[in-house]
Amino acid sequence: MGASGKVNLFEHDRNGLRALFAQLGEKPYRADQVMKWIYHRHVTDFAQMTDIGKALRDKLEAAFEIVPPKALFEKQANDGTYKWLLGMDGGNAIESVFIPETSRGTLCVSSQVGCALACQFCSTGAQGFNRNLAAAEITGQVWIAARHLGNVPHHQRKLTNVVMMGMGEPLLNFDNVVTAMSVMRDDLGFGLANKRVTLSTAGLVPMIDRLSEASDVSLAVSLHAPNDELRSELMPINRKYPIKDLLAACQRYTQRKARTTITFEYTMLKGINDQPEHARQLIKLMRKVPSKVNLIPFNPFFGTRFERSEETVIRAFQKILLDADVLTMVRRTRGDDIDAACGQLKGQVVDRTRRQAEFRRKLEQGIPHVA
Ligand code: SAH
Repeated sequence: MGASGKVNLFEHDRNGLRALFAQLGEKPYRADQVMKWIYHRHVTDFAQMTDIGKALRDKLEAAFEIVPPKALFEKQANDGTYKWLLGMDGGNAIESVFIPETSRGTLCVSSQVGCALACQFCSTGAQGFNRNLAAAEITGQVWIAARHLGNVPHHQRKLTNVVMMGMGEPLLNFDNVVTAMSVMRDDLGFGLANKRVTLSTAGLVPMIDRLSEASDVSLAVSLHAPNDELRSELMPINRKYPIKDLLAACQRYTQRKARTTITFEYTMLKGINDQPEHARQLIKLMRKVPSKVNLIPFNPFFGTRFERSEETVIRAFQKILLDADVLTMVRRTRGDDIDAACGQLKGQVVDRTRRQAEFRRKLEQGIPHVA
């Protein structure tokens, strides 16, 4: 519900919209018509929905609104990567990033204002947490990018992939993320193929199982370390859900459908997790699940204690995995001149966990190892 007391149609997927229309005594196909106007033609004004009669348009106008998040600014990187800062309530802002490539265009979407998980190498993690995004604020990020690109599903397809890899932990905002991903994959919505919508998680084991029941999307898991000791240091969530349990959940996720593989993300941190020994440990883990590995060169941010592994070290690490038949890619760094690369998104988070204050305090005291 917006400030106007009207329901924001960006809050709902097709089923939700049909239910709302039913409450007004309207047929499901009316909801479908409105969806097409919103997602294929980027129209948010009922008055412009010309295949709907005036009386119904007035009725819809009285009950509903179609309000995307507000773009505070947009920035383009030298490599064409595009970043939006979107204003939320209470002085908060989140970021989304569009990454154009020759054969595809990927939008990286945020799910929360900040993040509570405090992964040590992540800029969002250093900021603390404010709140979950509403479904309208998640779907709205895709809509803003689609409108900017002039994207039309099945005709003028500029936006081909969405990754839930922006700010926040998507599985901690489960219902809203599932609703938004439903609009992404709906032909009346953004029309993306299931496998082209990817949810990335730090590894919330019970929620991975819930996801496999609620939504059919690709799963990426942030692993970043091949043993519990190191992973718990880098990612506190590992103390609750250690690697063994995480891999078992991944295995269950792949079993629900033939040919499903999980992408394991592994950020390359100089001298921390990038040694041949780590690669060999990783190979053993990857034997347990149909998987591929995505090596991400670490992207630095203000105050971090970590450094990016050398290119030669990353290639050597990749080769050890490839030689053991573990499919391994190195993710190209994009948009880092505008702080749009993985782990660099920070928006503006009014922190409610006091983590940010602690971080600043330690920095001011000149303690080098804070991140
Ligand atoms: N919370 C989710 C999604 C957000 S982050 C998750 O943890 O998967 C998207 C990816 O970028 C994750 O794999 C994350 O670990 C990685 N990442 C975070 N900080 C990074 C940094 N500074 N450099 C490179 N990758 C980073």
